[in-house]
Amino acid sequence: MRLPTLTGILLTALLSAVAGAGEATKLQVVTTTGMVKDLVQQVGGDRITVNAIMSEGVDPHLYQPTATDVRKVLAADLVFASGLNLEGRMNEVFERSDAMGKKVVFVTDGVNEELFIESADYPGQPDPHVWHDVTQWATGIPVVVEALTKADPEGAPVYEANAARYADRLNGLNGYVTWVMSSVPQKQRVLITAHDAFGYFGQAYGIEVRGVQGISTESEAGIKDINELVDFIVENGITAVFIEASVNDRNVQALVEGARERGQEVTIGGTLYSDSMGAPGTWEGTYEGMIEHNVNLMSTALGGSAPESGYRGAASLDAEGS
Ligand SMILES: [Zn+2]
Repeated sequence: MRLPTLTGILLTALLSAVAGAGEATKLQVVTTTGMVKDLVQQVGGDRITVNAIMSEGVDPHLYQPTATDVRKVLAADLVFASGLNLEGRMNEVFERSDAMGKKVVFVTDGVNEELFIESADYPGQPDPHVWHDVTQWATGIPVVVEALTKADPEGAPVYEANAARYADRLNGLNGYVTWVMSSVPQKQRVLITAHDAFGYFGQAYGIEVRGVQGISTESEAGIKDINELVDFIVENGITAVFIEASVNDRNVQALVEGARERGQEVTIGGTLYSDSMGAPGTWEGTYEGMIEHNVNLMSTALGGSAPESGYRGAASLDAEGS
């Protein structure tokens, strides 16, 4: 048996002091989008440190990983992505990670395939924007629990408790979205946005959706697409359209001008968080805040209403009233 030398012991002690207690033992996790980061953080709690590659306002369809991103992915203990080809330009990095024996975890792996909407841009492939259906996004919770537990079996009770709490909250959020959207009059139930990000939202909460650009922002909208949508707006008397935080607003502005030239007044209903969340540290910088912001904005711009107390206020009112 080889005994550790005194120098060895001192060196080990010194290194762990430098690394800082706790931090060194936390799982180092890297995610792609902010929505994935929030989901993983909610489950992992303080046993993990999460870094998102894409910050707010970044379009995941077009995001090209930098050399720093590649290093981050390859150095992480675990890598989580949204999947369904949302992060199409990161596939090569994912393959490199897989090849190193660190399989990238896709949080949409648990989504009910019967609810898949086919991508118009990539026939045969599903639309990746599942986070806009809160119930479908929640199917990512057990996927995250499984992956974290595999990497850190001791943390299992923490991950399970956090997961149960978060699943409850998302269940409440889903109820809130359903309730707020139900206030929108039937003939105003049309959501027109910069790109087709809200298909699952429409399917889950009963509103027709149209995007100027397709499912991915990779294909440019042509004059024909814009004219067709202007026809639709004029024929259906649509009064509000929406811009998106991660997509250029020029196509939506073109719709407003096109409709106006034909005598139909259309306003910009506001900015929706479609493929990225708000700034870190703000309520809109969380998944729940992003969804609440969107639904309140849509509902009020389309002739419905939203409670002034908001989702959190409504949730506590509900708890007191029951
Ligand atoms: Zn998108």
